[in-house]
Amino acid sequence: MATPLSDSSQKYDLGFARWVYENVKGGDQLSMCMQCGACSGSCPIGTEMDYGPRKLIMMVRAGMKEAVLTSNTLWNCTHCYRCTVRCPRGIPVTNIIQGLGATAVDLGYAREEDTTRFARSFWWSVVHFGRTDERLVTAKYYFSFGLKTGIRKGLENLKIALGMIMKGRMHLGLPHKVADKKGLKAILEKAAEIEARDKQGLDRIMNDQGAKKKFVYYPGCSSQGSSKHLDESLRAVVPALGLEMEEIDDWNCCGASVGDIGGGSLANDGSVGAQPGKSRRAESY
Ligand code: SF4
Ligand code: SF4
Repeated sequence: MATPLSDSSQKYDLGFARWVYENVKGGDQLSMCMQCGACSGSCPIGTEMDYGPRKLIMMVRAGMKEAVLTSNTLWNCTHCYRCTVRCPRGIPVTNIIQGLGATAVDLGYAREEDTTRFARSFWWSVVHFGRTDERLVTAKYYFSFGLKTGIRKGLENLKIALGMIMKGRMHLGLPHKVADKKGLKAILEKAAEIEARDKQGLDRIMNDQGAKKKFVYYPGCSSQGSSKHLDESLRAVVPALGLEMEEIDDWNCCGASVGDIGGGSLANDGSVGAQPGKSRRAESY
């Protein structure tokens, strides 16, 4: 079971970084982030987020619990995994965002956002039928807002539903189910077992006093110049997590910022997923 998260309302709460490290899947790899920005530069939806993934990670490390758990980043992320695939450090950014979203819901930070309600309805259908039944997922989602709203939303979308039925995109009758119910049950049980095993493994590492918890630190140019606060927060958080780090001797350019050469034209031309011409990119990423 996850350890309780303190309800501190401090703007900076280093206990938050430790909690994420220990309780959010992939959170133990947050310390590996070198703030290169490849994730944010790749994110197709970054301009619609309060904070891009790079900045969100920096904020977790700085202990900005309230700002992280109330940000729309957790809900606007489409889980496309682009950031995860492109991260040069192999950090599971998407999983971390998903985990933070679940934490925000569990702790009551997130409003009952549409995406949360929809995700619950979707998961319900998968668990019960092994597939998504559009009618039931939609009905469960609409009625999660209450009886009156459910009926209103249903009537508003009746025309669309009828159109889908006419085109054969939505069927009438009983929901379709997977044939191999036993197989579905076995898959769901295995997934739960893997999740529990991952958590136990992490607990073992964290509680093993003899385990090596030292790693090499590559600061990168921005952490020594315009983003000195990143370097400072990392140097404060790492020992707070019971870890040690050693700065690489004679480190030099990683090349990541080449995307910003020419006033950000490369990063903004759409080739790396950023939305052209959105000034919010600079604030959020
Ligand atoms: S791409 Fe990876 S290392 Fe770079 S900022 Fe994002 S999470 Fe950190
Ligand atoms: S998973 Fe996709 S949408 Fe979510 S932060 Fe990563 S790149 Fe952006």
